[in-house]
Amino acid sequence: MQNDPVLERRAADSSEARLEQSLRPQNLDEFVGQGPLVANLRVYVQAAKGRGEPLDHVLLSGLPGLGKTTLAHILARELGVACRVTSGPALTRPGDLAGILTDIAAGDVLFVDEIHRLPAPVEEYLYSAMEDFAIDITIDQGQSARSVRVPLQRFTLVGATTREGLLSAPFRSRFGLLEKLELYPASELERIVRRTAAHLGTQIDDEAARRVSRCSRGTPRIANRIMKRLRDFAEVEGSRGITTDVAERSLARLGIDAHGLGTTDRKILVSLERAGGGPVGLKTIAVAVGEDEETVEDVYEPFLVTEGWILRTPRGRKLTDRAAAWLESERGGAQ
Ligand code: ADP
Repeated sequence: MQNDPVLERRAADSSEARLEQSLRPQNLDEFVGQGPLVANLRVYVQAAKGRGEPLDHVLLSGLPGLGKTTLAHILARELGVACRVTSGPALTRPGDLAGILTDIAAGDVLFVDEIHRLPAPVEEYLYSAMEDFAIDITIDQGQSARSVRVPLQRFTLVGATTREGLLSAPFRSRFGLLEKLELYPASELERIVRRTAAHLGTQIDDEAARRVSRCSRGTPRIANRIMKRLRDFAEVEGSRGITTDVAERSLARLGIDAHGLGTTDRKILVSLERAGGGPVGLKTIAVAVGEDEETVEDVYEPFLVTEGWILRTPRGRKLTDRAAAWLESERGGAQ
């Protein structure tokens, strides 16, 4: 029988999706870290269940890959309800939302990812749904068009955003629970790395787990991505698992250095150095490294700031003394 590349691709995609699914924590006990936030959610879920009411609307904010989607699904599971999933960019017209809202069962969670990207008319359409659990639907067209108020089942809106600042004040104020996810400390990422190794069916040395967690930019999604690649290297090299040696060589091949800095991070630091250490505007940095401003701000900068490589000042980004000294020493080493 001939190999069918399309079927093979589909099989690969679905096994990748299954793997992704298995890596997602399924309940609050499995969710590593974010202690205060998780503790709050436990109380709110328990209280809502005790009263037999839906949970208040929740806004989860935080950088990409920190677990917002995972938490939305966990909330639905802990509440014992279904989770409907959509996203800001997918809802282009109020009509798209009306279809989903009228279909929702009592108490269900409606998860809207990238909620800051909802078009303004759709956002405003959500207001009455969130507050009064009712929406206005226009029936008929032309002269006979009229608006009918349709009651909805009481539901919980869980919004996720990487840019809480872009949400309008009226929208923000309609969420009862505003929770922010922070970058994970290395100790928590290490627990995630070990958990991921177990799900991937591979062993990992203690030192290798520490290195991966230090190189994951405080982000579980990055830790998981690195782990999958390290498993590839370990398997192809016939290693008994992810040893320190495999981790070290593989991280280098992935362009990640011992500080957890990747190629683009280094380009950002070098672009600041070339500008005399700054301050340099975000736009200039984005052009220098060939990324868009949002990516530089959301993906690269938080780690560089947290780790003390750059400073954000009102006049732009500046290189820290630590970064300047390190770049200097790197050059010395390369000569
Ligand atoms: P976001 O929606 O914030 O971009 P996700 O919820 O998609 O992030 O999380 C990315 C991946 O990281 C998930 O598939 C999950 O496997 C993993 N992950 C996220 N948070 C945790 C956590 N606290 N513990 C363990 N794994 C996590």
